[in-house]
Amino acid sequence: KKYVYAFHEGSTDLKPLLGGKGSNLAEMTRIGLPVPGGYTVTTEACIEYYEKGNIIWDELRHQIEEKQLELEKVMEKTLGDIKNPLLVSVRSGAAVSMPGMMDTILNLGLNDETAKGMAEITKNPRFVFDSYRRLIQMFSDVVLEIPKYKFDNLLETKKREKEVKSDTDLTEEDLRELVEAFKKVVKKETGKEFPQNPKDQLMMAVEAVFRSWNNPRARVYRDLNDISHTMGTAVNIQVMVFGNTGEDSGTGVAFTRNPSTGENKLYGEFLMNAQGEDVVAGIRTPRDIEELKEILPEAYEQFCEVAKSLETHYRDMQDIEFTIDSGTLYMLQTRTGKRTANAAIQIAVDMVGEKLITKEEAILRLNPNDLDQLLHPTFNEKALNDASFITNGLPASSGAASGKIYFSPEDAVKAKADGERVILVRNETSPEDIEGMVASVGILTAKGGMTSHAAVVARGMGKCCVSGAGELNINESEKVMSIDDQHFGEGDFISLDGNTGHVYAGQIETQDASLGGEFLTLMKWADSVRKLKVRTNADTPKDSAKAVEFGAEGIGLCRTEHMFFEDNRIFVMRRMILSRSVEDRKKALDQLMPMQKKDFIGIFKAMGSRPVTIRLLDPPLHEFLPSEKADIEKLALEMEVPYSRLKETVFELKEVNPMLGHRGCRLAVTYPEIYEMQVRAIMEAAAELKQKENQEVIPEIMIPLVGEVKEFEYVKELAENVIKEVFEDYDVTVPYLIGTMIEIPRATIIADEIAKGAEFFSFGTNDLTQMTYGFSRDDAGRFIKEYREKGILEKDPFQQIDRKGVGELMKMAIERGQQTRKDIKLGICGEHGGEPNSVEFCHMIGLDYVSCSPFRVPIARLAAAQAAL
Ligand code: ADP
Ligand code: MG
Ligand code: MG
Repeated sequence: KKYVYAFHEGSTDLKPLLGGKGSNLAEMTRIGLPVPGGYTVTTEACIEYYEKGNIIWDELRHQIEEKQLELEKVMEKTLGDIKNPLLVSVRSGAAVSMPGMMDTILNLGLNDETAKGMAEITKNPRFVFDSYRRLIQMFSDVVLEIPKYKFDNLLETKKREKEVKSDTDLTEEDLRELVEAFKKVVKKETGKEFPQNPKDQLMMAVEAVFRSWNNPRARVYRDLNDISHTMGTAVNIQVMVFGNTGEDSGTGVAFTRNPSTGENKLYGEFLMNAQGEDVVAGIRTPRDIEELKEILPEAYEQFCEVAKSLETHYRDMQDIEFTIDSGTLYMLQTRTGKRTANAAIQIAVDMVGEKLITKEEAILRLNPNDLDQLLHPTFNEKALNDASFITNGLPASSGAASGKIYFSPEDAVKAKADGERVILVRNETSPEDIEGMVASVGILTAKGGMTSHAAVVARGMGKCCVSGAGELNINESEKVMSIDDQHFGEGDFISLDGNTGHVYAGQIETQDASLGGEFLTLMKWADSVRKLKVRTNADTPKDSAKAVEFGAEGIGLCRTEHMFFEDNRIFVMRRMILSRSVEDRKKALDQLMPMQKKDFIGIFKAMGSRPVTIRLLDPPLHEFLPSEKADIEKLALEMEVPYSRLKETVFELKEVNPMLGHRGCRLAVTYPEIYEMQVRAIMEAAAELKQKENQEVIPEIMIPLVGEVKEFEYVKELAENVIKEVFEDYDVTVPYLIGTMIEIPRATIIADEIAKGAEFFSFGTNDLTQMTYGFSRDDAGRFIKEYREKGILEKDPFQQIDRKGVGELMKMAIERGQQTRKDIKLGICGEHGGEPNSVEFCHMIGLDYVSCSPFRVPIARLAAAQAAL
């Protein structure tokens, strides 16, 4: 089996085997870009390394040595040759991008002897010893697991001693001394000398990269991003080029377009006389890529061309790492660049305009869940004018956030758990901070640029981030942040504007996002390909209007029960429930009817001619009842009944298992007056709109919790009698539909019988999941988490439709329903209707529409389009 591939043997097609970095290095080599030579040890080798009990076995060692020899022949340099040594980097690279999660070692091959030799041929001993001290530091961190700060401290001390600011100001002598000091640290920490044999260095490094696949921060990252732990990482061994030889060398990172706004303009940062991660680690403040034009015009021109050609080749925005060695440009990495949702849309629409991609590709490129970011608020402009500006940083990730300051990821996580809105404030974030970043609404750093860890990760999470606010003094251990004479401590409020990079004291009011031109263009494309209609779950005119703005094509679920909680209605409702005679109940219902009617008129108006599905009362009655003594007393007084008797009635209505209890259409069997009132309110609202405003409304009356066909027939007859009365009263007729929720497993089985009378089915997948699994919706969260951790459930079935179980029941219901009523209207109104994977399933089984909360409507529209492509 082939475990090792030279760069010129691979291509992007081999990504699972060579990892993202390796396959792209191969691809860039293949298309003739300047890539330093090298080879890739496959992800399969990594997996086998673990299977074999964490050892590099002979066959693998042999294949690595063979490829190393080939490389040395081409380079005419040899690893460990005292006179003319070859230096390489050893770089991790999994098949999915995990920025900064795993480890890289540079300048491998240096030891006391080769350093001497290299100093002679390069005539640049300063550079050689800078490289050597870096090697010891990285090798110790990654392979020997000696904490980085032990070396950083020595470096800082040396700088202080020499009274210099930057590492570039250290002399050859200083660096030689540092190398010696570093070697002493290694000896002290491990009891052994720093490994002097470059061949040993190489094998140890390869093995360490394999191991880094399973380091704790990589595992956390994979858990967070739903990435499998079993894929393994590839290892790339690559000839070193040097950005640290002097002032005509440098290193940088760039995006082919702006990852924050999507603007079609090269966007990046670089440092002269620097190596590796100096740019992203915030060692010195990096410079804007455009400045390179003045310093090294030729290299800059060439870089611009390469960037463009990479984008054309990959047909997507690229995130590029490069190094300039004594004026010559080398490409070290390219990958699809992470971007904000705003940028994603801008870039997709632009690229269609540039004929780089098709509309269909543009639709498929966006992650529907990311649209959520766009619907995020910005600061209210007026409030912003009055806000007290503290300082400026880089607008690293868009959005606006106000919250309380916390200085460590642990504190952030704790505060979040206590219900605080957290702003994580750090000098610079590192992968260890991930959990703290997840817990925060915004991130502020003092160091690092637009491509720093904080910036990249925040953009990925869709979180507001301001990075590199260099005027801030942040003392993480003392938990204070200061600028001039202003001080801020843990728990103080600040506000971040991720679009401008401004930082403010205190809280600032936010306002909803307005959806821009490219967004509308893209949604129009999506709408033109999707087959599923998208409706919304809404029960107020305001929510309905919002949903229409987001593109809802109707209401799939109007829950009537929410209306009973408004204003003083709850009292009338309670009175109705607690009435002891039908007369009393009717009296209370007579009071409720006009209120409901008014609600429906409001909703119908907001929805215009769009269909509105209204569900008749569903929850168990005791949800409306008072439980506090004071409330019961008050109610008793109003109803003119003794407190003790009322208390007893309340008690009697309590159920052991209310969600499986007296609710849904079961209520109508006991108290037909309730549904009669609701049907009347719906139909009178429709009739009145037709009569007075000539507005055509087609109400869809939905009966919940049907499990037996006779339940359905009973309610339907009751409803039709009322409807007849209303038509006579108003002397008009209005078209309407009567249908049912399919949410009890039994209903899926007898769907053919139900469809005789039901004109539509709407899958209530929350209850259907609850009853299919026998998981209580309200309590299952507690153990489902553990089920997922132990791999028993891959996904929470309340979030993503369980296709195997619940999904099969849905399919059966559709098939049987269509047997009796070919054109039965089919929809879904559970939470799943706004979850992309479930939307795809709804498309596959042929539903007519999905329905979801207003803010998820754009997500569902895009997901439906993707499902159709
Ligand atoms: P990461 O996955 O964390 O980005 P990389 O493997 O890309 O790690 O290495 C980080 C940086 O090290 C690169 O961006 C590049 O600047 C530098 N580097 C890696 N390999 C080489 C090399 N062969 N020559 C010069 N610099 C290199
Ligand atoms: Mg790294
Ligand atoms: Mg990299």
